[in-house]
Amino acid sequence: MKPSDPGKLDRIVADARRAAEQRDQGYRERALKIYPWICGRCAREFTRANVRELTVHHRDHNHDNNPPDGSNWELLCLYCHDNEHQRQLEAAGAGSNSAAAGRVSTHTPFADLKELLARKSNSK
Ligand SMILES: [Zn+2]
Ligand SMILES: [Zn+2]
Repeated sequence: MKPSDPGKLDRIVADARRAAEQRDQGYRERALKIYPWICGRCAREFTRANVRELTVHHRDHNHDNNPPDGSNWELLCLYCHDNEHQRQLEAAGAGSNSAAAGRVSTHTPFADLKELLARKSNSK
């Protein structure tokens, strides 16, 4: 085996990136053909002039899941698309945050209560 040519690797990476870009371009074009140019959240309508602000959202968040019938796509304007992903992040983050907050908020009062009870019983 010869050591691999770094230039070749660069070409492979560039090819893969181009393929991914073409694939992305592909599903966007297809989604825009299948669906009316309307944001699925705020119902804002788009025309050729501003269709750049209309994005393709993947319902299952898997960008590789592009069924030809478009069932995994949803057209969303930039803002609603942002919100959609923000909500996902918050939902994911809130779960762990509230669990952590729950631990903290239950820990302290119980510790205080224990201490109070201990003090009370000691003072008797
Ligand atoms: Zn919208
Ligand atoms: Zn999305």
